[in-house]
Amino acid sequence: MAKVLILGGGFGGVVAAERLAEQLGDEHQITLVSRSRQFVFYPALVRLAFGKCQPADVSFDLRQTMLDRKVNFIEAEVAHIDPFERTVTIAHGEVEGKLGYDYLIFALGRRLATEQITGFYEHAHHLLNVDKAIKFGKAINKLREGCVVLGQCPGARLPVPVYESAFALARLLEEKGIRQHVRVTVVSPTTLESEVVDVDAAARLKTALAARQIDFLPGMDIKSLTANAAITSDGRLIPFNLLMLVPPFRGSSAASYVGITNEDGYINVNSSMRVRGHDRIYAVGDCVNFDGPKMGHMAVRQAEVAATNLAAEIERREPAARYEHEMRFVIEGVGDSLYLHKDLWTDEPGTVKQGRFWSWAKRVQKSLWEVSHS
Ligand SMILES: Cc1cc2nc3c(=O)[nH]c(=O)nc-3n(C[C@H](O)[C@H](O)[C@H](O)COP(=O)(O)OP(=O)(O)OC[C@H]3O[C@@H](n4cnc5c(N)ncnc54)[C@H](O)[C@@H]3O)c2cc1C
Repeated sequence: MAKVLILGGGFGGVVAAERLAEQLGDEHQITLVSRSRQFVFYPALVRLAFGKCQPADVSFDLRQTMLDRKVNFIEAEVAHIDPFERTVTIAHGEVEGKLGYDYLIFALGRRLATEQITGFYEHAHHLLNVDKAIKFGKAINKLREGCVVLGQCPGARLPVPVYESAFALARLLEEKGIRQHVRVTVVSPTTLESEVVDVDAAARLKTALAARQIDFLPGMDIKSLTANAAITSDGRLIPFNLLMLVPPFRGSSAASYVGITNEDGYINVNSSMRVRGHDRIYAVGDCVNFDGPKMGHMAVRQAEVAATNLAAEIERREPAARYEHEMRFVIEGVGDSLYLHKDLWTDEPGTVKQGRFWSWAKRVQKSLWEVSHS
């Protein structure tokens, strides 16, 4: 019998647990540990902020879902892993102290390093959890005039909600008849091309931003905030009445100090999703050290690869599944919507498509996820 511990109840952890439960016999024990029993469908948080859906539409209870698949669920805070002793230290929750494992899948996502931006907590909105998305939505609804600034901080790896928010905001202001009173600006620490990793997609995005009178400011590496201005590292000021920023990302602190991460805390893995230099540990999702944006569909694919290889390892077969680092996203609001599919491990140009179909497909994908995982 093998004891498998999966850390994290997001896209990566949930899919890893489900795929392992499908592939392993009942004699093996699979346990998922996560700080909350709620699974959150993050790609829907922009729609939540703009009042297009309710909190109940973007989350479901994981415990019952996991039990239905014969996976134990523990609601608890993971403090640290020890790959040498094969233990996980639980800080608090339904259990406390050390949990042993034979095999581990690390899927704790990324940490929001808000401490890197002075004044972030006091002056910026973000929409990286349900409460913050609702709070941002309330602030938008109060807005009548002024400047709204939206963007990513240096080290943030999530462009999609920034652009979706900008287009949704422009549309909302038009509907309210106050568009001419509010200036909307997207700021980027780099360029549009490097944010969306594709020249054609960037060109179409640029055209769509201009068509909606949304300003775009590249090269704005924001370091600190006051109540009404963002300040870049070289001292430029970007005034705002309302600010929404994706904060810098870092790897989960639960993996630090054991020699498995890069300098930003992301876990080094190979294309089998095995942690480099260690047996019996896999890592998937936002926590791993791969280039480019951090996206849910990548976490899902990585989890499928890790689960397949781990099941093979337990059953003494050759772990043969490999991950290919591809990016697929849909940005709603670009004309109708913009789809990009790109291989991030080659220099091949991406496939870019535009049309109403893609925003429909994104919503269908959410519904399919709910039906098949909740
Ligand atoms: C607003 C928004 C819009 C997005 N839009 C898209 C999109 O359109 N398309 C797309 O592909 N991706 C999108 N993403 C990105 C996508 O949501 C993430 O890439 C994905 O959630 C990563 O999955 P994960 O399992 O690695 O991490 P997460 O989903 O972050 O899951 C990590 C889990 O671990 C738990 N956890 C963390 N630390 C601890 C701890 N110490 N102890 C216990 N539990 C812990 C968390 O509570 C969570 O359950 C979006 C994200 C946001 C926020």
